[in-house]
Amino acid sequence: MIISVASGKGGTGKTTIAVNLALALGNAQVLDCDVEEPNAHLFLHPEIKETRSASVLIPEVEKQRCNFCGHCQRVCAYHAIAVIPPKEQSKGGVLFFPHLCHSCGACAILCPQGAIREIPKEIGTIELGSAGQVQFVHGRLNVGEAMSPPLIRQVKEFVNSTRTVIIDAPPGTSCPVVASVKGSDYTILVTEPTPFGLNDLVLAVEVLKKLQIPFGVVINRSDIGDDKMESYCRESRIPVLMRVPFDREIAELYSNGIPFVLKKPEYSVKFKDMFNMIKEEVAK
Ligand code: SF4
Ligand code: SF4
Repeated sequence: MIISVASGKGGTGKTTIAVNLALALGNAQVLDCDVEEPNAHLFLHPEIKETRSASVLIPEVEKQRCNFCGHCQRVCAYHAIAVIPPKEQSKGGVLFFPHLCHSCGACAILCPQGAIREIPKEIGTIELGSAGQVQFVHGRLNVGEAMSPPLIRQVKEFVNSTRTVIIDAPPGTSCPVVASVKGSDYTILVTEPTPFGLNDLVLAVEVLKKLQIPFGVVINRSDIGDDKMESYCRESRIPVLMRVPFDREIAELYSNGIPFVLKKPEYSVKFKDMFNMIKEEVAK
């Protein structure tokens, strides 16, 4: 089963829930898909056994074959190619903007002159390892790279279907989140009972409904803020899978990079109960 852990906004404790769930279950695999800012390793302290380069294909124009027909510019939906036709005084050229390119391959396929070939461009790295019983994979997007979904999809190629897979998704509701949660059997939305938390949860709920992924909510720091979060979940029939009250000891463990299930075994039971609830929800 693939369980993704997401949140409409950052700072709700998404990674904490993902890591503690994995440790409570033991026979799990954690995929940290928050590739712009991976941090699950700060709590799992995995031994990294392998590092692989991750790349995408981008076009390269062979100037001698190009007749500046402009077809590549017209087919590129992302405005990543601009063709400058030749004039009396200038030769013309094809400008390529790599940060806009989505590596769709359309320009290379449709160039009538066969003047475009695809070459690999490194966008980041994927590290694989383990933390005790827990298998671990994360991606690191190169600094300055704008497009994280291709790296997220490459991290997800390492899904080990013999284990419970826990995907730590990036925060928010944009393309990287969709790339991370797509294909999950269930998504845990981690939130907090504040107006910002509720606003961003509602957005995340809409995304999951569109993707038709069943989901439930974990309310972190559940005893602060107001009761609007509980009312929203009740009225929208969204299951509240677990409540984690504010606890100074949990906060101190977090700041020292220690998952709280390791020091507070009662939470190990709660996480296992939550996993059983999820299994029942998925079976429905
Ligand atoms: S489609 Fe091919 S031939 Fe036409 S401008 Fe682009 S690269 Fe040149
Ligand atoms: S590969 Fe796709 S996105 Fe990139 S330049 Fe070509 S058509 Fe545009």
